[in-house]
Amino acid sequence: MEKVIYLDNAATTKMAPEVVEAMLPCFTECYGNASSIYSLGTQAKKALGKARETIAESLGAEPNEIYFTAGGSEADNWAVKATAEAYAFKGKHIITSAIEHHAVLHTCKYLEQRGFEVSYIGVDENGILKMEELKAAIRTDTILITIMFANNEIGTIQPIKEIGEIAKEKGILFHTDAVQAYGQLPINVEEYHIDMLSASGHKLNGPKGTGFLYIRKGIKSRSLIHGGQQERGRRAGTENIPGIVGLAAAAKRAFSIMEEKTEKEMRLRDYLIERIQKEIPYCRLNGDRNRRLPNNVNFSFQFIEGESLLIMLDMKGICASSGSACTSGSLDPSHVLLAIGLSHEIAHGSLRLTVSEENTIEEMDQTVECMKEIIEKLRSMSPLYEDFCKKNEGLS
Ligand SMILES: *Cc1c(COP(=O)(O)O)cnc(C)c1O
Repeated sequence: MEKVIYLDNAATTKMAPEVVEAMLPCFTECYGNASSIYSLGTQAKKALGKARETIAESLGAEPNEIYFTAGGSEADNWAVKATAEAYAFKGKHIITSAIEHHAVLHTCKYLEQRGFEVSYIGVDENGILKMEELKAAIRTDTILITIMFANNEIGTIQPIKEIGEIAKEKGILFHTDAVQAYGQLPINVEEYHIDMLSASGHKLNGPKGTGFLYIRKGIKSRSLIHGGQQERGRRAGTENIPGIVGLAAAAKRAFSIMEEKTEKEMRLRDYLIERIQKEIPYCRLNGDRNRRLPNNVNFSFQFIEGESLLIMLDMKGICASSGSACTSGSLDPSHVLLAIGLSHEIAHGSLRLTVSEENTIEEMDQTVECMKEIIEKLRSMSPLYEDFCKKNEGLS
């Protein structure tokens, strides 16, 4: 394949070489079942224990508070459904935000069909949770607050510590979908009063289909998968040792290079944002300028379709993502972009670029040049743009 400029690291990331290296022996050498008593099995068990320790340490948690899953969606589903079930005796009200990932939103919708009530808290024009609205939504029967750490589309980082403090004070459980934040930002479950936290391996240069849910000791939960005693009886099934070892290797790597990775990404991010703002007219930066993930750039461009922009960027070997989901068979623009107050029309003209520390300034330059050319071309074909130009001429 021709060399691509990969700017879709919020969708997934490339596995790091040290992650692959850590995983390989698990396939062919220590391939035993961690539940077996012979040494091939205990080797696997040891690797599993070590991985659990690595993950726990990265969060300030205890190893027995980490439950491995097959990804972020599974962890989100588990956290929300199991809490709802285990605490239904206390109340049936859940609080979340309007900009959660579908793994949380659709789980909440599912629970609404089962007699739960859900409050979807709004966000301001930059995507920051409306804290007053959150406080006002709390009821005596509220059992769970689930708010994402950082948004996957616009990169906005939420006031997690403040939310955690409110939840703790009111005696409500607090879950956070930290899939985008874990490995990118320092997180401490004690400091932030987090009771449950979801993360995913493939968003931090680890393997796909891996992840974990942190569940604070003492919290009532329900088993996700019934069967054997794996994951302390809460998620049965022979452990995915290569995946878990890969996830832990990825976490270890992410935390050890976090500072320099963040610095590199922010430099690329800010360079992109500044060039786009300066050189492409009629655009809007989505998400908070400062409280945003180090690798996230998200813009709306007037008079164009994000999908067309994506396809034309792909022809130039540039991988990005748009704010509308036309490709997935729906014409609805992103719920996140609508929640920050964009019109359907503007939301449809959105583009997300998420960098990694491996990208270069030259790639950013190439991307901006391509974008300028493509956007100009798309606008020249847009009747809306033509009208707009005519009107403006009339005004001047
Ligand atoms: C990617 C993502 C998920 C889903 O994780 P998977 O491992 O792909 O299932 C959940 N939440 C957020 C915020 C994400 O970005």
